[in-house]
Amino acid sequence: MDRRPGRSRRDRGTRREGDDAPTHSLIEHLHFSPDTGHIRLLEQRMLLLHADSFGTLRQELIGALGIDRARELLTRLGYQQGFDDGQRIRALAPGTSPAGLELGPRLREIEGFVRNLPNETMRYDIAQGEFYGDYHWRASWEAEAHLRHHGVSGSPACWMMAGYADGFCTAYTGMPIHWRETECVAMGHAQCRVIGRPLAEWPDDEAAHAHFLQVDTFVDTLAGSRQRREDEAAELEGFVGASAGFNNVARLVRKVAPTGSTVLFKGESGVGKECFARALHSISPRSGSPMVSINCAAIPPDLVEAELFGVERGAYTGATQSRPGRFERADGGTLFLDEIASLDLRAQGKVLRAIQEREYERVGGIELRRADVRIVAAANQDLWAEVEAGRFRRDLFFRLNVFPIEIPPLKARREDIPLLTALFLQRSMARCHKTVRGLSTSAYNALWQYDWPGNVRELENMIERGVILAEDDGIIDVQHLFAGGEKLEAAAFHLGPGGTLVRQRHADTAPADAQETLVDQLLDEGVSFERIESLVLARALTRSGGNVSATARMLALKRGQVEYRLKRNDLTE
Ligand SMILES: [Zn+2]
Repeated sequence: MDRRPGRSRRDRGTRREGDDAPTHSLIEHLHFSPDTGHIRLLEQRMLLLHADSFGTLRQELIGALGIDRARELLTRLGYQQGFDDGQRIRALAPGTSPAGLELGPRLREIEGFVRNLPNETMRYDIAQGEFYGDYHWRASWEAEAHLRHHGVSGSPACWMMAGYADGFCTAYTGMPIHWRETECVAMGHAQCRVIGRPLAEWPDDEAAHAHFLQVDTFVDTLAGSRQRREDEAAELEGFVGASAGFNNVARLVRKVAPTGSTVLFKGESGVGKECFARALHSISPRSGSPMVSINCAAIPPDLVEAELFGVERGAYTGATQSRPGRFERADGGTLFLDEIASLDLRAQGKVLRAIQEREYERVGGIELRRADVRIVAAANQDLWAEVEAGRFRRDLFFRLNVFPIEIPPLKARREDIPLLTALFLQRSMARCHKTVRGLSTSAYNALWQYDWPGNVRELENMIERGVILAEDDGIIDVQHLFAGGEKLEAAAFHLGPGGTLVRQRHADTAPADAQETLVDQLLDEGVSFERIESLVLARALTRSGGNVSATARMLALKRGQVEYRLKRNDLTE
């Protein structure tokens, strides 16, 4: 704001003449088309809702769900709106700037929710990871609705509005930003006031108010000692999301966890099926017993039964010792069967029996053993299609499909990218003992636009690569992120003039010297040969969905060679 002396306090937070230009330029993006039944703002379909009826809906939500759950829903609704607007504003002009950021408050005025008056000009420096905002809100729609239906409140009530500010600033800057209301008309103040800072800079108890972060909700469900809660919290690290898709999955997991029911997670490779399975186990009554995982695709078919059910000594050549299988080790707990479609029909029959009859035998054994395990399975491909193709047992399918949960791919929940990026950045910096200041604007743009065939796992790998390749204390740029095999994929990018990101239609138009550039970068960074091998392996494994045979084909190696290297690089359990 203008800090010239002599400016009266009444002037604080008002705008000078000519300041309306940005608002008018935005209004040009608002189109009424009654002939087609559409209103569009920045090419998004909008609705003109009656504020009174929306206020009544809000009141009914509070009545039906309780104040906490209603607040969570409305915050998320606002976050979604803000996020969409933030992305649209980013698309208007290349790069981000404080001026672009100021368009968010203007949009909210055009949309009729509130009048925004800056107490101070927003400070925003992406290179320094700096963000600070301080606004007064006048005529907040939400505060008016709250006052009318519920009277004066003991705490701020502009939940959807704050969620919008979070979503807009997070989408626009690429950093998770959290706004906190410190004064609210619904509490009897003359106007509402909000402070915005990076989420990481808020104290924990305030950050927990960011209700779109589900970790706390999960952890709160856990009864038990403080110590246990910390363990579980560590277990659920990486478990963040603001999208409706993520939150729907989280809700289903919370719902089914206490029941003991069989659960089937469906979704593309890398969406975090095992992560959700672990969350489910940790909030289930079986959490005191082990959770045992097996990736059915990673075990050769002739060994899978021994792995699942155990072996008696002498069952076959090489079985010199008796050993328990995964069913036995998971006794009393949870058994996670990843990529269950990879099991052959014979093994499927044995698994079905173990689930149905709750008993099994070790390979080469005669003793009937009791299986007290909860089955959680995961499948990449459409299991029903496998049934129809005769590759998967119909009866086992119905046994597993009691409670199917579909996890959406990352490209369908892009709102989660900033939260996940911030988390993986912290984690990679700790793992690599290196500090970087953040991501450049073009790097964030690339993360938005990329299709993420490898989903959350790919994002994590990419951020780690960025941390490795970026200068110490520097900024991660596009070429640090997209330095790998992404160029070979259909939806690829390359760097255009001025560091802008250009989407390539065909893989064969990739720059001919791309490989050379990549190798030079790695050499310049002093990355060790072992590290390069480990990166290549991890990437090939991700792209083949964890399938070792496919990984071997991709790298023109024998399966055994890949297994040896995976073990040496500590990429297997
Ligand atoms: Zn308020």
